[in-house]
Amino acid sequence: MLNPLQNALQAVGPESADPRTALVQAKIRGLLQGYDARWTGCTWRVNAVETTLMAGLWNPETEASSRTFQNAGKIDVDITDTPLGSDGPQRFVVDHKTCSESIDDAAADYWRSLVIEGQLSQYMLLGHQNGIRYDSGIWDVCRKPGISPRKITIVEMKEMKATRTWFCATLSDIQIESSFNTGRESLELYSMRVAHDCTKERPQYYFQRRQIPRTDGDLIEYAQDTWDLGQELIASRAVIREFKKRGIDRQPQRSAKACFMHNSPCEFLKVCTGEEMLEGSERWQKKEWMHPELPILKDGNGTDVLTNSRLGVFQVCRRKHHLKYELGYERPNEEEKEALFFGTMWHSALEAYFKAVQINQRGESIDSNITGAASSAAAITASEDQFQIPF
Ligand code: SF4
Repeated sequence: MLNPLQNALQAVGPESADPRTALVQAKIRGLLQGYDARWTGCTWRVNAVETTLMAGLWNPETEASSRTFQNAGKIDVDITDTPLGSDGPQRFVVDHKTCSESIDDAAADYWRSLVIEGQLSQYMLLGHQNGIRYDSGIWDVCRKPGISPRKITIVEMKEMKATRTWFCATLSDIQIESSFNTGRESLELYSMRVAHDCTKERPQYYFQRRQIPRTDGDLIEYAQDTWDLGQELIASRAVIREFKKRGIDRQPQRSAKACFMHNSPCEFLKVCTGEEMLEGSERWQKKEWMHPELPILKDGNGTDVLTNSRLGVFQVCRRKHHLKYELGYERPNEEEKEALFFGTMWHSALEAYFKAVQINQRGESIDSNITGAASSAAAITASEDQFQIPF
């Protein structure tokens, strides 16, 4: 049997030489122990991990299929479970999320925002289009630790020496000596404190799961929204082409209100203010494939593949969407923002975790090389000819 927790810890990798990466690794190692403890006894039957789905954009009003766009997304975990009070087994889309907001109160704003978030609708619609009837979606949320590595107090030092432990974890001679020399928590000790906090002290503060229902009406509304956005994108492309014929470089409109969303500046801010040029600049390069998160679908450049993230960008700023998804500009070697970086590593760790659960449940032979990145992702694609909605 594979140990899901050990598999997930292995996916986090050895401590990085880069301090920023090493700190995120330490947080995630601690959190994984809390996650494993919090959901001990979970009855989910894992059907698939990291499943990429694709299907044609569909207009529910006219039943027309798009000749231009495909809708695509990657489902974190596909499970079957029998919730208390239900008539029988149900199939769910599970999406892992990380956040900094409060999640332990069911009435928290964070949960309200997820009720209208389109991602689950997209996954469930893609499932339907590929012949998989999902009953509902589950948000599997982890709140990031607000605590940081800190000094060790004199009282704590004495206790450490007497008990040879730090927040219930046993310490080696080297760890104790190092703590006395520096007077601060190493990343290993910090990870132990995070694990203790999220396992023993505040598991509900850190980990929550909520089932978010989606009716057929919700999915049809989502399909209509994405169809309408696709039509707007086609119209925007036509305007750009028209101007180009006349020798004019017409760019889609900017949206100043979107420049500082999520409390950080947009990556194209200096381009929009005229401080940086895109063409001929070493600070910018063009991607060959617009959706690096969906490598399995790589075919052409991906400008006609719509994802939920891409549609979100199109809704908030047409210019940003044009630069990022139509022209494919990105900064080479740019450090991922902390929140994204943390989320990416957490997803990889949970991918390895659930892959191990799935293998154990299937009773498959153990592949010791299974890690998040190396696990196989199933790809189900539907061409527009095959496409039908089985509502
Ligand atoms: S691309 Fe849009 S969001 Fe980004 S800086 Fe320009 S106007 Fe603002």
